[in-house]
Amino acid sequence: MALQLSDIALSISPSATLSLNATVALLKQQGEDVISMGVGEPDFDTPVHIRKAAKEAIDAGKTRYTDVKGIPELRQAVADHIYAHKHLRYSKDEIIVSSGAKQAIVLALQSIINPGDEVILPAPYWISYTEMIKIAGGKPVIITTVPETEFLPTPEQLEAAVTERTKAIIINSPNNPTGNIWPRELLAAACELARKHDFFIVSDEIYEDLCYDGYSQISPAQISDDAKQRTILVSGFSKAYAMTGWRMGYASGPLFAIKAMGSIQSHMTGNPNSITQYAALTALTASQDCVVDMAHSFARRRTLLLFLLAQNGLRPGVMPKGAFYMLLDVRHYLGKKCGDVVIDSDLKFAQMLLEKAFVAVIPGAPFGADGFVRMSYAVSDIQITEAVRRISSFVQSLE
Ligand code: PLP
Repeated sequence: MALQLSDIALSISPSATLSLNATVALLKQQGEDVISMGVGEPDFDTPVHIRKAAKEAIDAGKTRYTDVKGIPELRQAVADHIYAHKHLRYSKDEIIVSSGAKQAIVLALQSIINPGDEVILPAPYWISYTEMIKIAGGKPVIITTVPETEFLPTPEQLEAAVTERTKAIIINSPNNPTGNIWPRELLAAACELARKHDFFIVSDEIYEDLCYDGYSQISPAQISDDAKQRTILVSGFSKAYAMTGWRMGYASGPLFAIKAMGSIQSHMTGNPNSITQYAALTALTASQDCVVDMAHSFARRRTLLLFLLAQNGLRPGVMPKGAFYMLLDVRHYLGKKCGDVVIDSDLKFAQMLLEKAFVAVIPGAPFGADGFVRMSYAVSDIQITEAVRRISSFVQSLE
């Protein structure tokens, strides 16, 4: 027998984050005190009132299939939430809830991409986008950016990436892994290109509630009416409400695209988990103090991490303005040796840092950020302090 997997399955790379997690788990099993700055999730528990709503939903028998696009009350609450935060008006029919922002992005791409269509993807990018584009049959067109432009593409680079096959651009602001936020002028340039060449904008706004130093996130859909009509805005509950395991995200956009996403979802997973939907409804409609409190903690940790890094002569690739990540510049250490091992890449740097100093960070290369590693500061102040101490002594030991 010569059973063959599909071309798409063979083209998909496993997540770099997950393989690192496996090494971390192994080291922990061996009793090592590993500080994991690799994970992309808040270290907080889901707030009590949200958990309570889920328990009540179970007891009230909210355990059956729901409307495939999500219960109307939740879709209305999402529409109200978007209006309150961004003054963008969507009807509940222009909203779909899915099993995580991840699924919403895949559905968005599957709804708009034909085989061979191109999707513009500025680097550094969240690891999953390239694979999601491929799953949808598309081709990622990556724009390489540099620290000198704060890892943002220039309007000229955006324009140069457009071809006759361009079907969409993915914008992720605040960005994973850089923590940078797209300024209004750059968004306006991208929206103008989308209008001129008639393509979609997929805007991943999952870190919208985590912005610092007075910066705030702007959605491309806020730039103009035309931009709103071609934007599929995606967000979710994982990061702002510490609900990663619950799997709840949403998308808003033009009715025809949201309808198509609903049709695909109906055959793929059906509705997202009914109990999670009721928990999410409470998350949106109850007090938002928990979101503010968690955002304050991330802000404090970011300040601490930046201060300690500077004190130890370590540099972020770009000043992070949002999310809970930053890129650490490790280009200076490439070519140096750790014992007998030459640090010839950010991957090797991350491997040796984990093996020798027991600090887990993610290599930048899979994010399109060669020469950098991604640190997540969704860990305690004590862990941040100890991690920087270890990183500092690790880099000093390199020869
Ligand atoms: N978008 C970005 C940029 C992310 O970093 C992540 C998770 O790390 C997601 C989407 C996925 O969110 P969810 O847990 O809602 O699927």
